[in-house]
Amino acid sequence: MKEIPFNKVELLVKRQNEHITIFNNGTAEQYANFLQEEIDELKEVIEKKEFEQIELESEIGDVLYLLIRLSQITGVDLIEAVLSKVARNFKKYKGKETREQARQDWGDKDHEYLDTWVKSFREKQAKIESTKVEMVYSYLSQKS
Ligand SMILES: [Mg+2]
Repeated sequence: MKEIPFNKVELLVKRQNEHITIFNNGTAEQYANFLQEEIDELKEVIEKKEFEQIELESEIGDVLYLLIRLSQITGVDLIEAVLSKVARNFKKYKGKETREQARQDWGDKDHEYLDTWVKSFREKQAKIESTKVEMVYSYLSQKS
């Protein structure tokens, strides 16, 4: 499949919702409920063990679509949110043997770290001319 920049996908979702009013008037809570329904549908497909790839693709598409929409109506930058998750994962899980141990060691540092990281990343991001994922990954690796 030809690569499509994610911001173009987000724009497409946004534009579509300018024309489909039933999706355009939801609150964050309503979108969270829709998202939960779609995650349940995705789980149902996976739990069948045997399923068509198109079923999985359809449900993942539903979930991602609603996540994009939720991020838009709440003003969250989805790409930045995912990048900060990658950064937290480096800090939280790198060198750890188990997820449980990492969680125990990490405690409740998510918000504290996120705040520091986001500020730092925004400063660095302004200096990064290329937006290539490899460069961001490299930057995050060095920071961990
Ligand atoms: Mg669905």
